Parts: sequence; structure tokens; C-alpha cells
Amino acid sequence: MAEEFNPEDVKQTCESYVKKKGALAFGLANIETLDRIAPEGCRPADMLPKVRSVLTVGVGGGTRGSWSADAKTLAYIGDTETMAYRIAYGLAFYIEAKFGYRSIFVPPDMNPEKGARVPMQSLKLHAEVAGIGARSMAGDILLHPEYGMMYYASVFTEMELPPDEPMADNPCPHPSCVKLYRQSGQTPCMRFCPVECLSGSIGNDDKVEEMNYDSHACAEMSQQYEAIPSVLLDTLDAKDPIERGMALHGPENQVIWYKLSIGAGELLSLCYECMRVCPITQTAPMANPVARGAGMRQKVIEAEAAARAEQAAEKGE
Ligand code: SF4
Ligand code: SF4
Repeated sequence: MAEEFNPEDVKQTCESYVKKKGALAFGLANIETLDRIAPEGCRPADMLPKVRSVLTVGVGGGTRGSWSADAKTLAYIGDTETMAYRIAYGLAFYIEAKFGYRSIFVPPDMNPEKGARVPMQSLKLHAEVAGIGARSMAGDILLHPEYGMMYYASVFTEMELPPDEPMADNPCPHPSCVKLYRQSGQTPCMRFCPVECLSGSIGNDDKVEEMNYDSHACAEMSQQYEAIPSVLLDTLDAKDPIERGMALHGPENQVIWYKLSIGAGELLSLCYECMRVCPITQTAPMANPVARGAGMRQKVIEAEAAARAEQAAEKGE
């Protein structure tokens, strides 16, 4: 029989744990809401039958410099998702060790029975329902008004903890995007996507009215696992040994084998051009890693001061 714990205290302890490990945002998604939105087979209980809570963490993106790097370099260094996974993995062990409830790190992987486009769980949906990101015009990439673009990871646990609410307001579209849209019919992300896979409209209330995302065009541009079957088809269709050699060993295709051999995550990356021009990603107050470091230190100082004041008040000092 597991020991009794105060759920609010446990939640706060988990938040402190992930923030000390480098997460920027932490929240809990309401499982009933997830069950209503996620299709059958992709709901939390489909993965962990006795799940009671869905915890989600968000970590910040790359350095400020990475956004100024050329496209090829940004494609290699733009993501920090492995950090989110590491923190969530640690959180699952932490909950089991400290509170004694079974927990799992939610695999961010595709469902092996459903091909390369259907994830086992939507980490994005968990984060959205937990209120640590809102869907943007840029293919539903989640954005946060304070932290900009983050990478997310989730933990399922059998411990019942209080859920959070989704964000009340969506920071996308940014006022400057609305202005550009009124002038040109496009927001910056739409305009600078190299394969024009984003489109949509902004209503009279300056909120997103419609968003369309051609995920196939985006994946062809930025996710090289999509390119591997094409390389193999070209090889099979080659008319002679020279053409066959080029299909396998041409400079662009060599890079795919190189990335596969070293296990580079960039096979699954974004091209980032929509986020390079996104004012929220670029100017949110804590999106800048330097400001973020100072801001997080300030938050820790404030939290410690508040805890000291509370203790003093309890003692009647
Ligand atoms: S990642 Fe690249 S291809 Fe995909 S939507 Fe953004 S800009 Fe377009
Ligand atoms: S550039 Fe960013 S804020 Fe502007 S519409 Fe696109 S995703 Fe939204």
C-alpha cells in the first residue's frame, strides 16, 4: 500500500525537480480532456492501463547564435528535444523512488503498427492541455508567450495529481504578424516557409481563423527518413550501374547514410525557417537563453524568499 501524500505538494516537488534539471515549463494535462480529443489507441490508458496523471515538461530551444546560423547549421543544432526526454525519464524514476507509484517516460516515437506519421501519443496534445503551449499558425508548433518555442516530453504515473488548465490566450498570431497578414495576406511563417506548406487566415478578431499545414511537403523538406524510400526506388529504377551508383552515392544521399550511421537526430528535424522568422520564438521575454538564465535564477530567489517568509509567518516571527 503506497504512503499517503498531499497531491499539491507532490506536484510542486515534481515541478522543482524538473526545473532544477533545466526544464522551463511544467504542467499536468487533464486525462478526461485527452481521452475526448485523442483517437482510440492513442489515449494515455492505451499505454499505461492504470494511469492517473499526465505530467509534461518543456525545455527551451538552442542558443541565440543558432538562429543566426545558416540553414544547414541550424538544421543540425536547432533542437534540444533530447534534453526534454532526459528530464522526463528522470522524473519517472523520481516519482517511483520518492512516492512509490508506477510511472513511465512516454516514448516520443511513432506507432510501429501505423507507419511513420502516427505517434504512439501526442506529446504536443499533452503539453497543450496542460497549459504550457498553444497551437500556432506554423503547423501547430506550440508556442509559449514567455518561452517561445519549446521541446516537450511526458510522463505517465499511476499517482493521482491535480491537472492544470490549457492557456486562456493563444500568443499566436503576434500583433506584428497580424499587421503583415493585413498587408500581404501572409504571416511571416507562411511567407518564409521554403516549400509553402503553411497557409491560413486571421479573423477580424485578430485570432487564427484557419490554419492549413501540408505535413508531407514539410517532411519532405526537413525529415530525411521520408527520403530513404525514394532513394531506394530510384536505385531500383536505375537504368545502368552509373545511374544506380549516383542514386546511392550522390552527395545529397551520402548525407542520409552518414546520418543513419551516426544516429543523428536531424533525420527527424525541422528546417526551422518558420521559427527563425517567428516574433514569439525570437522575442518572447525568456526565449533568449541568456535572459532565461537570469530570469530563472530570479524566480528561484523569489521562490526561496517566499518560502522563508512563509516559514517565519508560521513561527510567528
Ligand atoms: S519546418 Fe520548414 S518546411 Fe516545415 S513548416 Fe517550417 S518552414 Fe515550412
Ligand atoms: S510567425 Fe509565429 S506568431 Fe506569427 S503567425 Fe507564424 S507562428 Fe504565429
